[in-house]
Amino acid sequence: MRLDKYLSNAGTGSRSKVKAMIKKKRVEVDGVVATDPKSETAHDSVVMVDGVRIILENHIYLMLNKPKGVISSTEKGQARTVMDLIDHPQKDELFPVGRLDKDTTGLLLITNDGRFAHELLSPKHKIGKTYVAKLKKDVSSSDIETLEKGIPLKDFTTAPAAARRIAEREVELTITEGKFHQVKRMFQYLGNEVTDLHRTRIGEMVLDEILPAGSCRRLHENELKLLK
Ligand code: URA
Repeated sequence: MRLDKYLSNAGTGSRSKVKAMIKKKRVEVDGVVATDPKSETAHDSVVMVDGVRIILENHIYLMLNKPKGVISSTEKGQARTVMDLIDHPQKDELFPVGRLDKDTTGLLLITNDGRFAHELLSPKHKIGKTYVAKLKKDVSSSDIETLEKGIPLKDFTTAPAAARRIAEREVELTITEGKFHQVKRMFQYLGNEVTDLHRTRIGEMVLDEILPAGSCRRLHENELKLLK
């Protein structure tokens, strides 16, 4: 790969910024000061900027705090997508892990690792996805029991879930499947209606509370370990 691409893919800056770094002799490849942004650079070369090693990762894992009003898609159509919120040099390789409805907010992972995405989404692995649902009507203890046991929806019966009443009209629900509108349909079965849905957690990994809606950041090593 070209050196300027290597550096920008590693998150060092835009192509023009890294070209300027090379011009200023701030970049070294395998112990030699680099002069040509186009020079071929091996994936395992030792690349340093200002004496600090730059690591090119194969896989990218981002945490997005999805806001309302964007769809979870990579299609470049008229609707605004979650990908419009991502600023990354390898953006074209990235995709969201699963989908949240347009009006659902919260934790959405963005990656270029297809295998990782498949494993997280596969019902076989039973990875919990935790949502906080705000509701139109009060929730009873028997509603909580029904949610936990499993609900016969039109196309399938939901697997046992974990449900906790946070307030009269607010429930934390952890499900291991991710069927279309699943949480909304589960509450609909109970004669209720979800007015606000927010995903807080996938498996043991929790949405960073300080990440503003619409922003994303790289997953930390320890967060990634929780999912792999
Ligand atoms: N369940 C829903 O109903 N909507 C979502 O966005 C996610 C889970």
